[in-house]
Amino acid sequence: MQIAAVEARWLRAPIPEEKQHTSDFGRLRTFDAVLVTVRTKDGVEGFGEAKAAVGSAGDCASLVTIVERELGPALIGQDPRHITRAWERMYCGSRGDLALARGRSFPDVARRGPRVAAIGAIDTALWDLAGKAHGVPVVELLGGACHDRLPAYASGGWADAEGIGAELQRFVDLGFGAVKMRVGAMDRRVETSAARVLAAREALGPDVELMIDAHGTCSLPEAKRLMRLVESANLRWFEEPTPLDDHAAAAELRATTDVPIAVGESLSTRFDFADVLRLRAADVLQPDVALVGGITEARRVATLAETAQVELAPHLWGSAVSYLAGLHVAFASPAARILEVSLGGNPLLRQLPEIEPAVTDGGVDAPTEPGLGFRPRRDLLEEWTVPL
Ligand SMILES: [Mg+2]
Repeated sequence: MQIAAVEARWLRAPIPEEKQHTSDFGRLRTFDAVLVTVRTKDGVEGFGEAKAAVGSAGDCASLVTIVERELGPALIGQDPRHITRAWERMYCGSRGDLALARGRSFPDVARRGPRVAAIGAIDTALWDLAGKAHGVPVVELLGGACHDRLPAYASGGWADAEGIGAELQRFVDLGFGAVKMRVGAMDRRVETSAARVLAAREALGPDVELMIDAHGTCSLPEAKRLMRLVESANLRWFEEPTPLDDHAAAAELRATTDVPIAVGESLSTRFDFADVLRLRAADVLQPDVALVGGITEARRVATLAETAQVELAPHLWGSAVSYLAGLHVAFASPAARILEVSLGGNPLLRQLPEIEPAVTDGGVDAPTEPGLGFRPRRDLLEEWTVPL
């Protein structure tokens, strides 16, 4: 097998007005992602995704340039099945082969952010290709599914204290046994977040699992105060409670509460996650395949979670490509216990694939289709591609 082409397109799908929501990221009117296609000489296509941001919208022009102009050309003619070798070479730039010979990483200076997201998109496409080449789902290449089925939680929860119970109850009525709501800076005051969380618990009753997510917008004192005010809510986890560049703050919060702390959707490479674990800052690791460095790096984070005996819950808020990629990694890990399903407006997850990813009775079955199991609707690809 030989790589013949590496292509990237910025997809921008409009979110219908009635499905838009407002959070600390503002009102989200579009869903953006970069779709990477790696094509072999025989015409087989592998798909990967890179993101410019953890929210839905973002400017992806630079990601397209990195994939098509900087990383892609060096892959032409290479065997797409040498996935880890390709990852190390992309990560280490001109020192890639030297790093492989020495057995350590000699990373390029631009080793965080868009560069790693772009590496990850190509990496995920190579995994998709490898699965298709072998005629097996990616999860089998990762050691096979540890779970026949995983429960899912509905991810949303933006309404105020008056409406949050009804919003989350709609998710429960769809079959979900767990739901996640947003808190933090969007509420302006900690007391407002607390009132919304308590209203949610009151409406849901004791048996539905409830998570909260602050997108890293609480100060440490605010996070501690919120934990104290909602102690009776019996939370499943508190996600990204404190500033994302200060893992020590999350560690300090974790030391004061028995509510599990979840972090990781905005982190880049396994090295960021290793720092989190060294500081004992998290109980749940949430790599995003489209940001952390692809399936190769998400799998390495899964291994870290398995080693540290903490939970793995990949961030699955993206297009169908990163959703499915994270899903395969989760199914391959004994540390995964629950999957995220976005209930926000997301045309790239629900409309872009020929067949919408299935969620039944609040859970997901282990993937069985070759590769990632993603086939895009070509008409929507054309309609949603941003011309550059
Ligand atoms: Mg989150």
